[in-house]
Amino acid sequence: VLNYFEQRCQGSARLAEQAKAVIPGGVQHNLAFNYPFPLAIKEARGAHMTDVDGNRYIDFLQAGGPTLLGSNHPVVLERVKGLLDECGPTTGLLHEYEVKLAELVCQVMPGVDMLRMMGSGTEAVMGAIRLARAYSGKKRVIKIGGGYHGWSDQMVYGMRLPKTGRMEAIGIPRGATAATQESLPNDLEAIRRKLKWNRLRGGTAAVIVEPFGPESGTRPVTRNFNAALRKLCDEFDTLLIFDEVVTGFRAGMGGAQGYFGVTPDLTVLGKCLTGGYPMAGAIGGRRDIMMMLVGGIGTTTKRAFVGGTLTANPLSCAAGYFALQEMRRTDAAFKAGQAGDRMRNGLEQIIERLGLPYVAYNMGSIVHLQTSGVMLLDTSSLLKLARVKNEAKERKHMMEEMGAAYSAHGVITLAGSRIYTSLADSDEVIDDALNRFEDVLKLV
Ligand code: PMP
Repeated sequence: VLNYFEQRCQGSARLAEQAKAVIPGGVQHNLAFNYPFPLAIKEARGAHMTDVDGNRYIDFLQAGGPTLLGSNHPVVLERVKGLLDECGPTTGLLHEYEVKLAELVCQVMPGVDMLRMMGSGTEAVMGAIRLARAYSGKKRVIKIGGGYHGWSDQMVYGMRLPKTGRMEAIGIPRGATAATQESLPNDLEAIRRKLKWNRLRGGTAAVIVEPFGPESGTRPVTRNFNAALRKLCDEFDTLLIFDEVVTGFRAGMGGAQGYFGVTPDLTVLGKCLTGGYPMAGAIGGRRDIMMMLVGGIGTTTKRAFVGGTLTANPLSCAAGYFALQEMRRTDAAFKAGQAGDRMRNGLEQIIERLGLPYVAYNMGSIVHLQTSGVMLLDTSSLLKLARVKNEAKERKHMMEEMGAAYSAHGVITLAGSRIYTSLADSDEVIDDALNRFEDVLKLV
């Protein structure tokens, strides 16, 4: 399969080779985990992408999540073109679409009274944590192991693996993560213990979670986790931050907070927020907390500073406004979710037919295809930690081999293990893709 991939993608291979001289590793984005080189894409429209060699792919990478409407949606494109004609991408001043986008998000997201645009999900997480600290006067933040909240110093390290210790910690001074604590997925008791311990030492500013479970639900949350966490945070006077960078608008216009009926104090948005256009990031939340960005209600003291030259630029805001309007008009999250159900259903049948040790599950348009060992709902005992090690091996296999194999058969996934469906995925598209998945999985 890999030879086949190399043969039909020589244009990508050439560009990747050229890139190696000037770009570290030859590529900044290879979310599809294509080896031995990344695919170079020329055209993207709806459910499909075409590479520089003219090979056509069904796109379930969705640029890593933002293109819920399908790639390069024509309505959004036309509006963006009009805006660019008018004032170009940026002015450094207020623009009508900044207000319109904020109004729309405040209207649909239960936990968002006010919105501040940021440059990316990473920046929005940084801002939300800073706000939580400024508001509460407390320092510590609890996150969930295996959760991804961008690459800032304080958040980037992953689950503590046996022996290897922290992941991704190179270049990060110990002090930068001193106020970050990590808890295992779905372990409310462990979070309670940390909150209790912290209470005697200045308290906890916030607990930050991905509401579908760490790393976009790779380790799904148990049914009542979010509601119970909400209660726990209230009990300990700690702010609850939902990182809805992936789930925002993809889980429905109200995000995962709408889906679960659990309202966080602060919400981090990204990805779908600008419909795939640049500078996708925003902090939203309770009015009294958000007002800390200007120095607290009616004051100029205790201001939490955030910035960014291009944040809230007209291009990103207009793209976001028209993309969200289109998502709402078309009921995109629901329809993409139906495509996700069809995909998961089909994958389950393939897994069963072929007798594979895989598991497929979905939360609407977020479909996971994993080797079964990855399904760790409760990782509190040492025995289970040993399985985490096994999981790392399995994930590596999944990512490196399957990503390229699927692409060779015309399907692009996220790392061979995640499939984002979109509004553009008709039944025909899903069924076509399922045939291709089966062709690859037969070879496993
Ligand atoms: N939070 C979550 C849950 C994410 O999935 C991501 C990106 N995948 C981020 C934060 C960071 O967003 P960005 O890549 O825009 O910095």
